[in-house]
Amino acid sequence: MKPDLFEAPDYYNIDDLLTEEHKLIRDAARAWVKRDVSPIIEEAAQNAEFPKSIIPGLAEIGAFGPYIPETYGGAGLDQISYGLIMQEIERGDSGVRSTASVQSSLVMYPIWKYGTEEQRKKYLPKLATGEWMGSFGLTEPDHGSNPGGMVTNFKDAGDHYLLNGAKLWISNSPFCDVAVVWAKNEEGRIHGLIVERGMEGFSTPETHNKWSLRASATGELIFQDVKVPKENLLPNKSGLGAPLGCLDSARYGIAWGAIGAAMDCYDTALRYAKERIQFGKPIGAFQLQQKKLAEMITEITKAQLLALRLGQLKNEDRATTAQISMAKRNNVEMAINIAREARQILGGMGITGEYSIMRHMMNLESVITYEGTHDIHLLITGFDITGLNAFK
Ligand SMILES: Cc1cc2nc3c(=O)[nH]c(=O)nc-3n(C[C@H](O)[C@H](O)[C@H](O)COP(=O)(O)OP(=O)(O)OC[C@H]3O[C@@H](n4cnc5c(N)ncnc54)[C@H](O)[C@@H]3O)c2cc1C
Repeated sequence: MKPDLFEAPDYYNIDDLLTEEHKLIRDAARAWVKRDVSPIIEEAAQNAEFPKSIIPGLAEIGAFGPYIPETYGGAGLDQISYGLIMQEIERGDSGVRSTASVQSSLVMYPIWKYGTEEQRKKYLPKLATGEWMGSFGLTEPDHGSNPGGMVTNFKDAGDHYLLNGAKLWISNSPFCDVAVVWAKNEEGRIHGLIVERGMEGFSTPETHNKWSLRASATGELIFQDVKVPKENLLPNKSGLGAPLGCLDSARYGIAWGAIGAAMDCYDTALRYAKERIQFGKPIGAFQLQQKKLAEMITEITKAQLLALRLGQLKNEDRATTAQISMAKRNNVEMAINIAREARQILGGMGITGEYSIMRHMMNLESVITYEGTHDIHLLITGFDITGLNAFK
């Protein structure tokens, strides 16, 4: 792979709206990605392996629980810092950002928000350092966009619960130490349970042959009469709103992360367009290529402003689920379109692993589908503005 020459675009001087702390955190994450992710990521993706060697680095830049209080081992940062860290990681690879998002927003967040003090103290510090890695089990083979229909269930068996069912498409599952699993009790109410690797009847087979997010491990979570101690139930929130609250936090991170992937594609294409000579001129001198590049920077700038404003609302605890859906949907579509256009600017070179663009493009095919599909986020906006439910 080519050396990482990335220079971040900031067409509207958005840096002026960030604090010194934001910029320090962002720049540290950016430098780490350049040093520790870029040199290894292409090979990891080609080999379809999550590069576990980067786990301590992810912890050091604050990617595991950026906004979790320091008392529990988190970095105690604000939501904009969290977004900037996700942006920089996804600039490297969406699969690596997926691992960080799951650990922070889908595993640490529910334990912090819905768990007991004992659960927080037991799990959060180890998840913050990456000593333990987590996964989040909501999706099932027959219940994707409609998770409320889930069939995974648990029964009261005296001093423990008995958990049965299966989850599919679970990021980090093949190597996770703990899984936050959503299942129905005997009354059909959804609860979160913390399941630990080693519990009898719990297995995590890997899903192979993915063309997307190849540097992220994806798999199943299978439960066959797993005895889960009663103290592993998250007691402080139940119902579908509990997992959806985690998804709000993760989707917010994706809205920022997608900007990172787009920036990398744009920056690569811009550099290539200035260097590649055809018909005696750099291809960047042709109007058709300039149109592509000009539209890319316009869309990136709009997405940056959307994410920043959403971050301000999140910091004030005012961001709504529908606002988060709009940002996730817009920014991922923006990134996938830019990846496709940037790939064309590179011509044949664009399809090789010499450049990051094709990897970003394929990764974004998952990002546009997971954490609520592109269609579902549109329906959330439609419902919000009309008050009419078009889901069913
Ligand atoms: C790489 C990867 C990693 C993932 N990681 C996780 C994870 O860590 N944890 C987890 O729980 N899940 C995870 N997922 C699952 C992901 O969230 C689901 O794939 C997603 O929610 C869509 O579900 P589905 O694939 O079953 O598609 P379906 O729900 O079957 O949807 C298929 C199509 O139908 C459309 N559709 C569905 N319902 C409607 C409707 N009412 N109106 C109009 N159109 C509709 C959808 O938009 C989509 O285009 C992951 C997925 C991938 C690909």
